[in-house]
Amino acid sequence: MKKEILAALGQIIPQERMFLDLAERYCYSYDASFGEYLPEIVIQPKNAKEISELVKMANLHKIPVYPRGSGTSLSGGPLPVKGGMVLDLTLLRDKLFIDRENMLAIVSPGVITATIHQKADEAGLFYPPDPSSSNVATIGGNLLENSSGPKGLKYGTTKEYVIGLEVVTPTGEIIRTGGKTVKNVTGYDLTRLIVGSEGTLGIVTEAIIRLIPKPQSQKTFVAHFNHFIDSGHAITSILSSGILPSALELMDNACIRAVENYRPSGLPLQAEAILIIEVDGHPLAIEEEINKCADICKDNGASYVKIAETEEERQTIWSARKWVSPAITQMGPTKISEDATVPRNQIPAMMERLQQIRDKYELNLVVFGHAGDGNLHPNIITDKRNKAEMKKVELAVSEIFEAAIELGGTLSGEHGIGTLKSPYMEMELGANGVIMMKKIKEAWDPNNILNPGKIFAEKGQTKVVLLT
Ligand SMILES: Cc1cc2nc3c(=O)[nH]c(=O)nc-3n(C[C@H](O)[C@H](O)[C@H](O)COP(=O)(O)OP(=O)(O)OC[C@H]3O[C@@H](n4cnc5c(N)ncnc54)[C@H](O)[C@@H]3O)c2cc1C
Repeated sequence: MKKEILAALGQIIPQERMFLDLAERYCYSYDASFGEYLPEIVIQPKNAKEISELVKMANLHKIPVYPRGSGTSLSGGPLPVKGGMVLDLTLLRDKLFIDRENMLAIVSPGVITATIHQKADEAGLFYPPDPSSSNVATIGGNLLENSSGPKGLKYGTTKEYVIGLEVVTPTGEIIRTGGKTVKNVTGYDLTRLIVGSEGTLGIVTEAIIRLIPKPQSQKTFVAHFNHFIDSGHAITSILSSGILPSALELMDNACIRAVENYRPSGLPLQAEAILIIEVDGHPLAIEEEINKCADICKDNGASYVKIAETEEERQTIWSARKWVSPAITQMGPTKISEDATVPRNQIPAMMERLQQIRDKYELNLVVFGHAGDGNLHPNIITDKRNKAEMKKVELAVSEIFEAAIELGGTLSGEHGIGTLKSPYMEMELGANGVIMMKKIKEAWDPNNILNPGKIFAEKGQTKVVLLT
């Protein structure tokens, strides 16, 4: 980085919050996805004013700026693919105010999501979006990826809860969108535009999020299936029965084996799939609902059904699901996580396509996820040093995307487009849909300095490339 630029940065940020050493920059060269890219400099701003000045300077000198929360993105969101500066936003965590009267929380972007859950709970309120990474990920990352988790089935995703933002634009202005009111139709809905924009349209420096009353009670059960596809039919039967579970999670046999290998939890090694289903609401209503869901599973071939009678039993059921991510990383050094999502009635068809892809390429393809909302998580466990296998992985990933789109679904339910899925945007949105999105990006960020190399494919990039 040029000396005069470093000197100008030094006027905005003290030296102890700027990092140029290789070892320090290396820590910001990766996320939880695939690929490594070194930034030229890492900066830790503390407030919107500092960010505004940094972005104005970057815009003037056309330096790429990469906003970053905890770096748990599974789509390459914070990766500095074109070098430049990484803005580590985790020091923006001073504000977490629960406004009980208005049922809102006002938060800084670096606050860890689980802290919001905890503070809302202490106030008798509930913030539903619950990505599995919520103990580590920041609310800023959640907002920009529009994250969700098991509770998305009943309560929706992050975007349903964000009603106001403070944003530093790519040209350095500080703007406010939305506000504290649940209803707001003043002008274009810039809040919704920013949420899920993967850090390409602005840097969020504060958010107002909606909280809801805490459900009175919840009940959970687990069902084992000897045939994977039967679990898919059970999911669609439950969802068309008039019951809306608060969570409906799937683990396939490879996940079951991985968890048993990692943290033995008494899971059935012979089962092809496990469903974990939770309902919440009035105690009398959920008693009836949980029994009905259990009956539907039995009717669809479940070999075993167990309703948790105590909180301890409930936690045991959930802990097996929570071990899946760490457990499958033990199966190989490289994990390619996808989150193609299909309409609910296509869940069994997508399950079949995934099995066919796994068998065709003979890959270690495991499936788990928030199956109730069609958001399956096919993960390929491989080793990026094995070039022959990586070629097969590239083809398999492409086929997963194609299958999801053919079944009327989407490339990404919650992890975002980032670097990997960009060549497929046109397949889902059509050429004109992509052009309209590019026009929005150009209007906000005329010099393309904010998170360049994301969402939109590079010229000539037509397919997934895992090997460079
Ligand atoms: C084990 C594991 C489990 C996961 N489970 C889930 C899950 O259940 N559901 C789910 O949706 N995701 C899940 N994820 C993915 C990931 O945790 C989420 O995408 C999360 O929201 C990322 O938050 P982060 O703080 O790590 O953000 P980062 O990864 O650092 O950044 C994510 C994106 O947001 C941008 N960004 C971050 N902060 C700001 C800001 N303040 N302003 C502008 N741009 C910003 C970055 O540029 C990047 O594009 C999981 C990841 C892991 C590793």
